[in-house]
Amino acid sequence: MTSGKKLVILDRDGVINVDSDAFIKSPDEWIAIPGSLEAIARLNHAGYRVAVASNQSGIGRGLFDMATLNAMHLKMHRAAAAVGARIDAVFFCPHTAEDQCECRKPKPGLLQMIIDRFEIDPSATPVVGDALRDLQAGAALGFRPHLVLTGKGKKTLAAGGLPEGTKVHDDLKAFVLSFLADQNE
Ligand SMILES: [Mg+2]
Ligand SMILES: [Zn+2]
Repeated sequence: MTSGKKLVILDRDGVINVDSDAFIKSPDEWIAIPGSLEAIARLNHAGYRVAVASNQSGIGRGLFDMATLNAMHLKMHRAAAAVGARIDAVFFCPHTAEDQCECRKPKPGLLQMIIDRFEIDPSATPVVGDALRDLQAGAALGFRPHLVLTGKGKKTLAAGGLPEGTKVHDDLKAFVLSFLADQNE
C-alpha cells in the first residue's frame, strides 16, 4: 500500500445483497448474498474499512422514501454486526438519470466524496461492482476496478467493454480472498 488509509469501496445491490430488476424497495427485500457480510468482516480484520457507493434511483422514482432507505441500511448494518463486520459509510445517489446529477454512477461524484471523506489514494483502492457503471465511475478516478459475477455481473461480463485492468471474481467472498492474498505478496 502506498497509503496508510486502507479502504475498499463496494456497490450495494448485486454485491452485498441480492439484486432485483424491480428494485430493492424495503428492508424485507434486502437479503444478503451468502458469504458477503463474512467477507466484509475479513476485510475489517485485515485492517480495511469498507464504504458503500450505491445508486438508489428508487427514491427519485418515488418507489420508496428516505426513511425506508434508512431502515434498509439499519438492517444491513445490524446483519453485518451480527457476523463481526462493519460498514463505515454508505454514500448513495437518490437521483434519476433525468436529474443529470454528478453523483449517479457512472459519474464519479459519489466516489469523489469518498476520496474526500477518507483521504484515500484511489490507485491503491479497489472498487467492487456488478455493473459496468460501477467500474466506469471507479476507473474515471483511477481506482482499481473489480467485477463480481453476482447480481448483474454475468450480464456485465458478457456485454464486454470493461475498463482496462478490471479483475473478475465469482462473488464478494472470492474478491476478498484474492485481494487479501495479493496484499500479502
Ligand atoms: Mg449493483
Ligand atoms: Zn445523484
